[in-house]
Amino acid sequence: MSTLVDILTEKCPKCGKGHVFSEKGNIFLFRLPKMHSNCSHCNHRFEKEPGYFFGSMFVSYAVAVAEMVVFFLIANQFVDSYLTIVVLIGILSVVLSTFNFRLSRMLWIYLLDGKNKQL
Ligand SMILES: [Zn+2]
Repeated sequence: MSTLVDILTEKCPKCGKGHVFSEKGNIFLFRLPKMHSNCSHCNHRFEKEPGYFFGSMFVSYAVAVAEMVVFFLIANQFVDSYLTIVVLIGILSVVLSTFNFRLSRMLWIYLLDGKNKQL
């Protein structure tokens, strides 16, 4: 359970105390999230090599599709037009883009470099 809390609160995968992101980003201000290169508490390096986060794009895709499916199932109960639902899903995907960016990188970090991994 604490791993899930650490992922959602964006804590370091090794010590669970330092923050991974320095800025959360805001899509309405055209700001992307920014990561620390190392943990402020244990100095753990987050990006092991260039392209380390390439795989997190696939995690981001899965997270976004899951959100869209859940939103579609809920919206389908209240909205009659599929076109309206598709437009709402497009708006939802833009609004959640920075959240998905951070969540997918956190899932990727914990998948490859979590507390029980010895690399
Ligand atoms: Zn740390």
